[in-house]
Amino acid sequence: MGGIEEICTAFSGTYAGEGMALLAGLYEQIERETTLFCTEYAIACGNGCGSCCEHFMPDITALEARLVAAYLLLLKKDAHLVDSMADARKNTSGPCPLYSAESPFHCSVYPVRPLICRLFGACASGDKEGNGVFRRCRYNREETMPLHLTFGPEVVVMQDYSYALRALDSSAAKVALLPDAILEQMEQLSFLAAMVEKGGNTNPDDSPTPQAS
Ligand code: SF4
Ligand code: SF4
Repeated sequence: MGGIEEICTAFSGTYAGEGMALLAGLYEQIERETTLFCTEYAIACGNGCGSCCEHFMPDITALEARLVAAYLLLLKKDAHLVDSMADARKNTSGPCPLYSAESPFHCSVYPVRPLICRLFGACASGDKEGNGVFRRCRYNREETMPLHLTFGPEVVVMQDYSYALRALDSSAAKVALLPDAILEQMEQLSFLAAMVEKGGNTNPDDSPTPQAS
């Protein structure tokens, strides 16, 4: 999870940092559970495949966007990526502006990628009866995933993770297209990011910290 810990540490003690730490915990849980699920059912993506990112523009919550924004402001610092997101604002079908053929796993923000990017092709989804179903991703021409699997209601499905995300933060019910959501969070976080980068003083008006008597 390289990158997430650094960001959570940098923003710890701030309101923004609280949500980021909760989200990092959920992402860690998902990483563990999807890895187990994929191992158990022999599910893998095609070697070097990133087709979903080329044909997709995720809707994400403010909290997911905040973690990506913090990563871009504090660690990545890539002006070209910010321009790409601004250019992609009206694009609803992809490619995702964070897609990069050269990046590890083809994602420029891989350690902080949103929830759907962690789940697509890596977990079951719930059917109308509440049972789990896994269907091979339609871009997986190498057939490195089973075509169709069915489960009982005991299997954790995409919707369960989505509810868990929404339970973390009151702003999670509001979603927006990835470029809009991240650019908005970058704007909101930029002052705080500059403060934490300067040396950890996150007190916005720089008023003296009360001393114990
Ligand atoms: S989910 Fe499908 S399109 Fe995305 S990387 Fe895996 S195989 Fe490729
Ligand atoms: S954020 Fe990363 S993983 Fe998600 S769609 Fe964009 S490039 Fe793909």
